[in-house]
Amino acid sequence: MNMKRFCVLLVAIVIASCNNNVSKKNSTVSSDTSFLVAKDIHTQSNADSVLLKHLDLDIKVDLDKRIISGSATWTIENTNKVNELVLDTYDLGIDSVLSDGQKVLYRLDSPKQYLGAALHIPIIPQTELVTVFYKTGKNARALQWLDPVQTLSKTHSFLYTQSESIYARSWIPCADGPGIRYTYDARVAVPKGLMALMSAENPQQISDSGIYHFKMDKPIPAYLMALAVGDITFRKINDRTGVYAEPAMIDRAHYEFEDVGKMVSTAEKLYGAYRWGRYDVLVLPPGFPIGGMENPKLTFCTPTVIAGDRSLVNLIAHELAHSWSGNLVTNATWNDFWLNEGFTEYFERRIMEEMEGKSYADMLWQIGYEDLEDEVTNIGKDDKDTWLKLDLKGRDPDAGLTDIPYEKGCHFLKLIEVNVGRENFDVFLNKYFNEHAFKTITTEDFLKYLDNNLIKDNATLKNNININAWVYGPGIPANCPHAGMERFDRVDNMRSAFLKGTLPPLAITQKWTTYEWLHFLRKMPKPLSLVQMKQLDDAYHFTKSTNSEIADLWFITAVTAGYEPAYGAMQEFLSTVGRRKFLEPLYKEMMQTGKQEMAKRIYKAYRENYHPLAQESLDKIVR
Ligand SMILES: [Zn+2]
Repeated sequence: MNMKRFCVLLVAIVIASCNNNVSKKNSTVSSDTSFLVAKDIHTQSNADSVLLKHLDLDIKVDLDKRIISGSATWTIENTNKVNELVLDTYDLGIDSVLSDGQKVLYRLDSPKQYLGAALHIPIIPQTELVTVFYKTGKNARALQWLDPVQTLSKTHSFLYTQSESIYARSWIPCADGPGIRYTYDARVAVPKGLMALMSAENPQQISDSGIYHFKMDKPIPAYLMALAVGDITFRKINDRTGVYAEPAMIDRAHYEFEDVGKMVSTAEKLYGAYRWGRYDVLVLPPGFPIGGMENPKLTFCTPTVIAGDRSLVNLIAHELAHSWSGNLVTNATWNDFWLNEGFTEYFERRIMEEMEGKSYADMLWQIGYEDLEDEVTNIGKDDKDTWLKLDLKGRDPDAGLTDIPYEKGCHFLKLIEVNVGRENFDVFLNKYFNEHAFKTITTEDFLKYLDNNLIKDNATLKNNININAWVYGPGIPANCPHAGMERFDRVDNMRSAFLKGTLPPLAITQKWTTYEWLHFLRKMPKPLSLVQMKQLDDAYHFTKSTNSEIADLWFITAVTAGYEPAYGAMQEFLSTVGRRKFLEPLYKEMMQTGKQEMAKRIYKAYRENYHPLAQESLDKIVR
C-alpha cells in the first residue's frame, strides 16, 4: 500500500524455529498453490494446524443500517487432526456455526486489544466445511460507511474496505495473517442500482438484481480481501485495464490514468508476466485514508492523485508493482514488511524510470531519501524500529507503520543493484518473483536466496553491501546509495535566486514536474516572510493548486508563515481530503505553531468526514 502514502501497519512476529517448521510443512503441501503459514502473533488462528483452502462468502450489505451480514464457509483440511478450528474475529456478532452442515457449539473468547476475539469451532479429522453465520459490528475497523453527502454524487451511500494489515477479521471471520493464502468465491447482495466490486473478477455493469458473483482463483492472504459498494461506473482503458469511479469522477479519472495500460506492459518487461488477468483502478470518494491499496486485480486509490495533468501517476506504479512484490510474493509476517514495500518502492521507481527517464526517477529517489532521513530522526537513529527486520512483538501492528520498510528497504535493494550491476540484478529479481510466485517469504529466507543466487559467497560483494548493517542494524548505513541531483541542483539555484529577490521565470517553472515544486518548497527557510509568500502565490497560484501534493506542502508553508490568504483554501482542502499523509502534517503544523484553536475548530467540523483509521491518528495530534 501506499502509505506515505501511508500503508498500513505491521504486525507480527516470527520465531526462527517456527519458520523452519513452516518451510518444511510447506514443502509437503504441494498442488499448484501454496498455503503457507508462519507463526504470527497478530493472528489467533490455528492455520498452522488446519489448512484453510477456500472461502465461500455469501453476504448482504445494508448501507442504511451499516451492517454486513451473511455467512463465510471455509473449505478446510485438518492436516494435524486437531479438535478445533480457530478463526480471527473483530467486533463480529456470531449467529451460528455449522461443521459439515451440522450445528456445533462454538466458543468466542473475550476480545483482546486490536487482535479481537478468537472463535473456537469444534471439528473432527474428516471435517471439510465450516460455515460461520455472522454480522459486522459498529467498530469494524476495515469498513468505511459514507453518507451520500460524503460522496461526489451526494445521492447514494458508499462503502469500502481497507483490510491491511489485520482488519479483514472485522468483516470476515478468517485466519488473518499475511502468511495464510486461500482462494475465494463471493455472492454479494447490495441495494439495487449500486455496483459492488471486490479483489476478484469484477462486473463492468450494474446488476439489475443487486446481486453480484465474484471469483478469485489465485490464493491470496486475508489482508487483500476487499469490497466497495456504491454508485460506481466503469470505463475501459485498454483490453486488460480500466477505471472505476463515481460517475462525476469518471471522465477525470479516465484521463488521469490513460497510461495505465502502458504501465502494465512496462512492468512486465522489467519483471515478467502480470499474472492476475485484468488490472483495474477504483478511484474512491475523498475519505480514503491512504494513497492506494493494492487489492489484487483492482487497486483502490485516493482521488487526491487526480491532479488533472497525470503528474501523480507514480502512485499507480506503486500499487501496480505490488502485483509482483506483495501480492505474488508476500511477506510471511508483518515483521518482514520491507519485503512487500521496499521491493515495491524499488520497482515503482524502475517503472517510472522506463516511462519518464532517469532524471525523473532520480527525483523520486532523492525525495524518498529525504523522507528516510526525516523518519530516522523521528524514530531515533539507534532505535530498533529503524532496522529492516522489525520486531513488533506485543505491540499494536500500527506501531510499525513508518517510512523504514519503504525507503530503507528500497535503498538497500538499490545498493545491491549498484554492486552487482543492473543486468544481473534484474535477472535475479525475475527469477525471485518466478520461483516464489503465490508464496510467502521471511526476511531470512530471502537473504539465503540472495546469497545462493546472487552473492554466492563473494567476500568482496558481501563486504561492500554489508547486509547485517541494513537488515539487523539501525539508521542509514554509510554505504547508502545516492541519486543523481541534476534537476534538483537547478531548482536549488532557482530557490537561491528567489531568496535574493528574483522569482524563477515561468518559462522554466512551466516545465517543472510535481517533484521539482516539492523540492523548491521543501527546502525553503522557515518561516518565509508574508511578502515572500505573497510573491510566490501571485506568481505560481499555489493557494489554488489542484495538485494535492503541492497544495498540502503549500498549506503547511502557509501555516508556518501565518499567511492567512491561504487559510480558506486550506480549510476546503481539509474538508474534502481524507488521506492521512496530507492531514497529519498539516494538523501537526497548526498545533506546533500556536494555531491550536484553528486546528481544533477545523478538525471538529470535518472529523466525521475522515476514515476511522485517520480519526484514530488525528485524535492523538489534535487535542
Ligand atoms: Zn505499498
